[in-house]
Amino acid sequence: MELINKSAKVLSELDVTFGSLVHEMNEKKLFDLTSRKGKAQGGFCESLPETGLPFIFMNMSNTDSDLVVFMHEMGHAIHDLLKSDQELYAYKQIPMESAELASMSMELFTMDRWNEFYKTEEELNRAKKDQLKGALMSLPYIMVIDQFQHWLYQHPNHTWEERTKKFGELKDRYDASIVDWKGYEEWKVKGWFYTLHIYEVPFYFVEYAISQLGAIQLYKNYKEDPEGTINKYKEALKLGSSKSLPEVYKTAGIELDFSSNKIAELMEFVAKELDLLSVSK
Ligand SMILES: [Zn+2]
Repeated sequence: MELINKSAKVLSELDVTFGSLVHEMNEKKLFDLTSRKGKAQGGFCESLPETGLPFIFMNMSNTDSDLVVFMHEMGHAIHDLLKSDQELYAYKQIPMESAELASMSMELFTMDRWNEFYKTEEELNRAKKDQLKGALMSLPYIMVIDQFQHWLYQHPNHTWEERTKKFGELKDRYDASIVDWKGYEEWKVKGWFYTLHIYEVPFYFVEYAISQLGAIQLYKNYKEDPEGTINKYKEALKLGSSKSLPEVYKTAGIELDFSSNKIAELMEFVAKELDLLSVSK
């Protein structure tokens, strides 16, 4: 399959072991990628307990998102492989903030090699811009969901109307200045229905913001020192949860830092990268 072969090539260029993992998983039929009738939606990576090998499930849609989802899930798979040497089972169980750091970073690390997948420079730049913009645009939505979840639990007797109103207010606060919802007001207040975290992992979703900020830091480091950054990324993932989250981030060469200074620095970096993509054809 084209997605598997090209991704194996791209990942091998980052690190030979990353590419070999794709080939091994493919040979052992550890990919379930194509859509079929009745197949559940979404994408995930699970570690198989007997062999320790990862298994990836997703629904290809023949759009750009196939590539991003695949690279994301391969980040999880690489994490599984690297932490498999941890002796204690508990150390292989990782918190979401480190799991998503592994996967979101892989989306960005591979970006400079997406020319494998795009025919023209223009298409490639468009895809890279979408990826970077997506990384930024996810942050306000995560803030909305985070505050919404806290409100839900602080107001256990709220009505359907109150809940809808609250979500609308939060959306207005965070994205009304950039999104014109005219004609789509119903979807503005109902959007949270699709966020499975609300039903499955109460109070979570913020881990994506934490990990995204980590992934942007790693990408920034990668731009300056590709090899050194990949080595540190590998060292951090090998730790599993044998070390605390701040130590895992530190080993990766980044900080668990949510200060406005740090966020401003990262946003400026992404804005500069977007500018470069707009200048080059
Ligand atoms: Zn993930």
